[in-house]
Amino acid sequence: MKIETIAIHVGTQTDPSTGAVVQPLVQSTTFERKEDGSFTNGFIYSRSSNPNRTALEKVLAELEQGVEAAAFSSGNAAGMAVFQSLEPGTHIIAPDDMYHGLRNQLKTLFAGILEFDFIDINNEQILNAHIKPNTGLIWIETPSNPLLKITDIKKITDIAKTKGIKVVCDNTFATPVCQQPLLLGADIVMHSSTKYFSGHSDLMGGVLITTKNNDWWGKIRAIQEMGGAIPSPFDCYMLVRSVKTLPYRMRGHIHNAQLLTEFLSVHPKVEQVLYPGLPSHTGHDIAKQQMQEFGGMLSFCIKGGEAEARRVINGLKLFTRATSLGGVESLIEHRATMEGPDTKTPFNLLRVSAGLEHIDDLIEDLRQALD
Ligand SMILES: *Cc1c(COP(=O)(O)O)cnc(C)c1O
Repeated sequence: MKIETIAIHVGTQTDPSTGAVVQPLVQSTTFERKEDGSFTNGFIYSRSSNPNRTALEKVLAELEQGVEAAAFSSGNAAGMAVFQSLEPGTHIIAPDDMYHGLRNQLKTLFAGILEFDFIDINNEQILNAHIKPNTGLIWIETPSNPLLKITDIKKITDIAKTKGIKVVCDNTFATPVCQQPLLLGADIVMHSSTKYFSGHSDLMGGVLITTKNNDWWGKIRAIQEMGGAIPSPFDCYMLVRSVKTLPYRMRGHIHNAQLLTEFLSVHPKVEQVLYPGLPSHTGHDIAKQQMQEFGGMLSFCIKGGEAEARRVINGLKLFTRATSLGGVESLIEHRATMEGPDTKTPFNLLRVSAGLEHIDDLIEDLRQALD
């Protein structure tokens, strides 16, 4: 099946007890045992599994062409389950522009438990120099946030495989519509479902999707079940609903991002536009090989520094000044402020999540704010 069909049909079916076309919301925390002690459909207690979560996990696994998915209450909870699954003393290699929330998680919660290096992962020499006997995981995030840097997934997984190192790829920015890291050799794909999967800026979630149901995955499942950082049945229901339109929403996000990029690239007040679809982008050639589409996120740098960047975002009427991404409404953010003092993000950079408004209205708003 193609991705549009998977998004709509996998995981859910017409409810056999009522004929409801849409799978009902099951809020029950507990499920009745039969007289012989067994359970109807295997559901026991909703921290372990719940019909709405199972439906969500099935569709997300198939969208990424994995074998199983584990849904969490946020992207950070999904990331944390990966780190918790590693033996103490394991060394992790992560990009120096890793999503700041997960970088901070490693630095504050896992200091003294795991070892980690944040490096320029796209430089093969630097990468090889950092691989140690106890390196157990390479974390990649591509396109990265907010510089939209591109990491060659196949190249990294090839290097990792020769050394028995696992690779997890944060695919939040790309979504499976644009890129499927498991097909390029990654062991696990991670998403913040809060973003494009939800698509409406109204729920938090995270997910891990695996290529293999192995011991490592078993441990991650145990962390999900015992740690309990699970999404509510309602959030799972909402996500199943949202994911049905993911491929079509992505077309709109991608279309608008591309046209915004074209407008900004020739604007005299714009110093630089960062978008993997631009031939001028440093990662464009790799992006062309590993991505079907270039996504809905872009960043641009304003001439005149931070003050001018602030003047521009404060002059916008349609774009909302807010963090996060992937919703129907266009968002813009002065990213350095959000990331705090240790940020490497330029202070004249604005990050845009292209929404689904009409492109003419978005361009008009940017034009008036820039002028
Ligand atoms: C938002 C985000 C996360 C964290 O997800 P939450 O749902 O906010 O916990 C991780 N990685 C990327 C790339 C993100 O954009």
